[in-house]
Amino acid sequence: MKHNIIEDLRRRFHGKIGIRWGIFAGFAFFTVVIIILLWVFQIALLESFYRSIKIEEIQTTGQSLVEQMEQNNMNIFEIEEVITQEAEDKQLSILLSDSSGQWAVLKKSTPDSFLERLTWIERAQIYMETEAAGGEYLYAGDRDNGQPDNLLYVLTFTAQEGQDRMLILNTSLTPVESTVETLKIQLSYLTVVMILLALLLALFIARRISEPIRQINESAKTLATGEYAIEFQDRGFREIAELGATLQYAAGELSKVEQLRRDLIANVSHDLRTPLTMIAGYSEVMRDIPGENTPENVQIIIDETNRLTTLVNDMLDLSKLQAGAIPLEPSVFNLTESIREIMARYDKMADFHFTFEAKEEVFVNADELKISQVVYNLVNNAINYTGADKTVRVRQRATDKAVRVEVIDSGEGIEPDKLRDIWERYYKVDKSHKRAQVGSGLGLSIVKSILELHGGLYGVQSQVGKGSVFWFELERCYPKQEEKAPGRLPGRAGKREPGS
Ligand code: ADP
Repeated sequence: MKHNIIEDLRRRFHGKIGIRWGIFAGFAFFTVVIIILLWVFQIALLESFYRSIKIEEIQTTGQSLVEQMEQNNMNIFEIEEVITQEAEDKQLSILLSDSSGQWAVLKKSTPDSFLERLTWIERAQIYMETEAAGGEYLYAGDRDNGQPDNLLYVLTFTAQEGQDRMLILNTSLTPVESTVETLKIQLSYLTVVMILLALLLALFIARRISEPIRQINESAKTLATGEYAIEFQDRGFREIAELGATLQYAAGELSKVEQLRRDLIANVSHDLRTPLTMIAGYSEVMRDIPGENTPENVQIIIDETNRLTTLVNDMLDLSKLQAGAIPLEPSVFNLTESIREIMARYDKMADFHFTFEAKEEVFVNADELKISQVVYNLVNNAINYTGADKTVRVRQRATDKAVRVEVIDSGEGIEPDKLRDIWERYYKVDKSHKRAQVGSGLGLSIVKSILELHGGLYGVQSQVGKGSVFWFELERCYPKQEEKAPGRLPGRAGKREPGS
């Protein structure tokens, strides 16, 4: 049946793409996009990039020169110096002339610039045309039209000293075809290398991710069939390792739950059946055999009936507590007094010795009946499991904020790995039922549920062979004077009687 479900799952997700191929495809896509971008930018757009960069450069140079001459009163030597500097730096030819074209300074850093062949008439003409065009003129030679591959930028302006001037900057645009050819060859190699590298990398990463997941997946399927003793890998990347470890923990918890369920069925049926068998057995004996109708036999029947009642009550209490069906009825009461009364009842048990240590009277705001039940349950356990000295100590310790009650026995103690489980319902350390006469296995679950409802802390310290200290803590409270004065309200007994 379970196998069928897993088969169904496998079939359901059959068409889905696996992690390995997913990563692989992602990588392949990424590589292709990068390669396409490289080709587009390096090959197809190189020329226009180059042009726009050059145009941008010639424009900023021209404008900054004009700005300098407009703002500063420069003599001819200074003008020559800045022009020379710019011409060399930017590899330009620069011509500065007046509006009539007769006076001119030329600096050339490009070989064979047409600027040097301009006559003064042509210069004057260019001046007028540029003025007409708004003081700025840009020409980027277009070789397709058979024009010289030239970049020309003309600016007209008025210098600081008031004269109209014209600045012409010129450079040639180097053809990019040969560069593009070289790049094409380089890029072809690069493309092949990149594709290979990407493939290898994708395979490697995909393996590192998918392999542990595949293993965890397999283990999880085994777990789903109800086999809890399964190993989950915790290798690989952090999240995957964490997943493995978490599933391992979950498997452990599941197996505990399963164990608990089996114990539960075994315990409940055993615990209910034993007293019933006894009751039936003794009743028949008393009915059938003359002279067996003795008070001792009747007492056994009564004891067993009590035990059944306790068990059934505990079961009901716990179910109701855990279902939240019993609301808390908190009130401010004297906890010390309440424990003292409980201990007074126990004192009547002749073969046990009880002590209660408390330095002061402590009040708490809690459900008195339920807290009494906690004390009863803990003391009953201590009685059941205490050692040869038959002593049970209860100690109250208080700070300003909280009060702690400890129930101490000198019994066999509890092994450290059981300490967590004893609070589970029906859990008994001793599974052999040697102590079947003792407890329902529910006492501590009830304690736990009640304290959790109160938001209190609880716990146990135990040493095998030496004994255990079961403790709980509640928030302390300080009643107003009038509440305190009449002493504790008439004592209400806890639900469980000593020794029940
Ligand atoms: P039970 O009715 O069996 O005592 P509890 O829930 O009260 O059930 O306790 C659960 C188990 O915890 C017990 O079966 C016992 O093994 C262990 N335990 C409880 N109290 C003590 C104690 N004071 N000393 C040793 N073991 C204890």
